[in-house]
Amino acid sequence: MIRAVSHVAAMGAYALADLGGPDTVSLAQNESAFPASPAAIAAGKAMLDQMPLYPDPEWPDLRGAIAETHGLEPETILCGAGSMELIGCLIRAFAGAGDQVLGTDYGYAFVASASAQVQAVYAKAHEEDLTVSVDNILAAVTSATRIVFLCNPGNPTGTLIPNTEITRLRDTLPEDVMLVVDQAYAEFADRLEDPAEIFNLVKRSDTVVMRTLSKAYGLAGARAGWGYFPPAIAAEVRKLLNPNNISIPSQAMAAAALRDQAHMRDVVAKTAAIRDGFADGCRALGLTVPQSHTNFVLIRFADADAATRVDAALRQEGLLMRGMGGYGLADCLRATICSQHVMDRALTVLKGVLK
Ligand SMILES: *Cc1c(COP(=O)(O)O)cnc(C)c1O
Repeated sequence: MIRAVSHVAAMGAYALADLGGPDTVSLAQNESAFPASPAAIAAGKAMLDQMPLYPDPEWPDLRGAIAETHGLEPETILCGAGSMELIGCLIRAFAGAGDQVLGTDYGYAFVASASAQVQAVYAKAHEEDLTVSVDNILAAVTSATRIVFLCNPGNPTGTLIPNTEITRLRDTLPEDVMLVVDQAYAEFADRLEDPAEIFNLVKRSDTVVMRTLSKAYGLAGARAGWGYFPPAIAAEVRKLLNPNNISIPSQAMAAAALRDQAHMRDVVAKTAAIRDGFADGCRALGLTVPQSHTNFVLIRFADADAATRVDAALRQEGLLMRGMGGYGLADCLRATICSQHVMDRALTVLKGVLK
């Protein structure tokens, strides 16, 4: 019999969202409710005749667009087939068997999976009131801790901690512990917290910042994420990346999307308006919804049973939210913000079940 190595055989498959049938409207994967910039779509189409070629392994145009947009040095930006690829390579390069990778209660599930791939131990620092606690992270650090992952704003909570707290975390963590700040939803919070402050931490040479085109830019299907790395960390991660990781049209779409900041800001504003109205509608039904700084909301029901009943009723209507049992939040559902019409339908279902 052909056997996998034992730690892979012992692993579960990465738990992707249940997407329902072909007629189901997904509110489950935090995809954008709005199309990408028309300039991005045109740029992708214009590249289709390049498909016999391998994509540029240095992503020069995309890196240039990221550097211009955020005022960063292009040399230490790495691009991935989604930031998932970068997170996986970073863990493979900097954690091994028995090392600890430290996240938080409701941190990104993929980090746990990538840690298991290298037999590192994934530990979680407690969050307080569905919000990351820097003190609890610091208290959970041990001599085995190699990497701390902090998602801000958080997924699935949507909550935000201030940059001053992230700086305090970095200043207090041991220097041989890497801090990774996953900012997959930062475009929804960049008005509140100056992104330059977090990018500046990278200069310390022990901190990495991750971003993605998958959420606010509406390009989840393009598989384009990026990170800002200290040079020595970038050099190691680079060795593990798939050399031609982002397709030619995807690189072009991502670069054009970044150069159309007006479109992204418009999408963020429209999404936030629908989100805040939907959250208020849920609160009016007596539900708990933490203030979200993302394109989704976490809805807390009276108990797991109520969440299950709502989930079933939504499915009856062809709507699918994300169950949160895997995060120990069986009394919650996470709802990606879709069009106003879809959110109105969802709220009607909630009202019907909870009345
Ligand atoms: C969506 C998401 C990402 C980005 O994933 P991609 O691979 O870039 O599509 C990263 N972290 C978190 C927490 C996310 O929700």
